[in-house]
Amino acid sequence: MTALCRYIRPLALTIASAAALPLQLSAQAAAPARSSGIDVAGMDRSVKPGDDFFGYANGTWLETTEIPADRSSYGAGSMLAEQTDRRVADLIQQAAKGSGAAGSEQRKIGDFYASFMDTVAIEAAGLKPLEPTLDSIAAIRDRKGLARFLGSTLRADVDALNATNFYTENLLGLWVAQDLDDPTQYSPFLLQGGLGMPDRSYYVDTSAAMAGIRDKYQEHVTALIGLAGIADGKTKAAAITRLETKIALAHWTREASGDVSKGNNHWSRTDFSSKAPGLDWPTYFAGARLDRRNRFVVWQPSAVTGISALTAIEPLDTWKNYLTFHAIQSRVAVLPSALYQQTFSFFGPVLSGAQKPRDRWKRGVSATNAALGYAVGQVYAARYFPPDEKARAQEMVGNLIAAFRDRIDRIEWMAPATKQEAKAKLAVLKVGVGYPDTWPTYSGLEIVKGDAYGNTERAELFEYRRAVGKLGRPVDRTEWVMTPQTVNAVNLPAMNAMNFPAAILQPPYFDSDRPLSMDYGAIGSIIGHEVSHSFDNQGALFDSRGRLRNWWTPEDFKHFQASSQQLVAQYNQYRPFPDLAVNGQLTLGENIADVAGLAAAYDAFHRSMDGKPAPSVQGFSGDQQFFISFAQAWRGKAREPALRNQILTDGHAPAQYRATTVRNIDGWYSAFGVKPGDKLYQAEQDRVQVW
Ligand SMILES: [Zn+2]
Repeated sequence: MTALCRYIRPLALTIASAAALPLQLSAQAAAPARSSGIDVAGMDRSVKPGDDFFGYANGTWLETTEIPADRSSYGAGSMLAEQTDRRVADLIQQAAKGSGAAGSEQRKIGDFYASFMDTVAIEAAGLKPLEPTLDSIAAIRDRKGLARFLGSTLRADVDALNATNFYTENLLGLWVAQDLDDPTQYSPFLLQGGLGMPDRSYYVDTSAAMAGIRDKYQEHVTALIGLAGIADGKTKAAAITRLETKIALAHWTREASGDVSKGNNHWSRTDFSSKAPGLDWPTYFAGARLDRRNRFVVWQPSAVTGISALTAIEPLDTWKNYLTFHAIQSRVAVLPSALYQQTFSFFGPVLSGAQKPRDRWKRGVSATNAALGYAVGQVYAARYFPPDEKARAQEMVGNLIAAFRDRIDRIEWMAPATKQEAKAKLAVLKVGVGYPDTWPTYSGLEIVKGDAYGNTERAELFEYRRAVGKLGRPVDRTEWVMTPQTVNAVNLPAMNAMNFPAAILQPPYFDSDRPLSMDYGAIGSIIGHEVSHSFDNQGALFDSRGRLRNWWTPEDFKHFQASSQQLVAQYNQYRPFPDLAVNGQLTLGENIADVAGLAAAYDAFHRSMDGKPAPSVQGFSGDQQFFISFAQAWRGKAREPALRNQILTDGHAPAQYRATTVRNIDGWYSAFGVKPGDKLYQAEQDRVQVW
């Protein structure tokens, strides 16, 4: 299992895919995601809280809310993300209209977006911007030339632990991060890549549905290279997809790639030629400008070995056709619309179910966010996240950490040495609130108005050089992996750090216009959830310095497993469909974090009151406000296929069951007078307390 958690299920976003793939931004007007208190109108007071707490807190909202037609689910998080996207779009569009000083970030944002939107210039340029790349591919004469070109395509576009992006269309991907054996240094991590479809399963799965997708993919490859004027497309497409299938066979599964204990493999530069013969590695590394690095981490060694062998065995012409196809596909967002339409016809209806592409302006906003994310984020934070909100959130974090420290002291089953390391981890925890302490800058990134293609290419190269530039420098634990305008939260296990972006520190999660009780119930439990991941069976893999070193004793593990079995049983009972129950084992790590996060947030709330009683508001006591606010933060509904898919594949339980976490907290029973016989009632010994 990985040691990571994004609080909300992530959407993959790269500069290329941001613009090419359909993300979920509703075409309909966003409902304002504001709260300023309990949404009493959205509750259903006819439901007994002890029978169905989610329904009690959200019943009327569930009854009256339609999922927008272009979405598979809808709820508090997606409403807030939509509102935030619109604000970001406004900021970007204002920058495009304004006249920031030449070279300023404001000007870069504006020019990047305006160029992306200038479809007249893009159509007029045709395939011309691609020519230098296609010429370089055509000029490859031997395996050495192939290695050099492949090296030049390496980009910093993957992340094995934090943002967890395992996909790159390039043959390999680079992630520069803290070394897991020596946390004082950065290491270059190399990850498998090279597929046009999202995962190896699309190439090797034997189901009829997947076979159908493969046929459609080959048709797409044929059509796309045909649009680029390449002759004999059908034969070439067949060879390209055969090559990709061989690459896929070498790939690790997504699950194996997520296993940190399998990924931490150190290779010296000279190891590559013996451990992964085939590719001319010295030339590859020279092409990638990594030829002075001696130490690498190879995340999926057998995949690198397999891919490297293919570069020596497969015909050079097949490789050249493959590279030509990917050079086109990875840039369709900034090429003439016929190429984009062709690509969407596969990635939209066939792969994701989306029937129409997102509006160009929405793709433009995503692309700008991907290329200049922290520059946009700085403007966003200045506008929407005032310093007093940052201070308020930091104080809350302080109370949460203090609550965890008390809880760790009180755990009976954890060995003293383990407790000591747990507290050491708490002491060094670096919790980022709102935005980074220092902003990554974009000086040196050249944005040229009217050159959408060049801007995208330069932005990717700029991020690559920024990443490579970190090698040899001291590790910066204040670095962020999520932009401030992201509605999400993340635990960075090796860095013992967390990011809570400004965009999640908004109503309905965080709101200065309402009592603290409600903030602790909503964002407080989210912060608690992320902190809990630092100590659970996943966090146990990383010590307080960020080394990959299991600091739990075998006895600790045994105790932990026994108490977690109760939680597995609790979630196995949840059955949204007669034929399908929640998988208590699959969702265990997240459910533990939910229980621990809510318990710590409840303690922290009381700690913040300093023994004084919380005022009654809207007819609810402080404790009632805390729990209702928690359940309303989980408000959401999903279409049946999406819910089934989530239950089968997602490590997080569906929202209504996450809201039901309350049944493990004693304070909930007294707040709502929950009694034996109520459906959610748990006898005291069955309430799970992890720490
Ligand atoms: Zn989590």
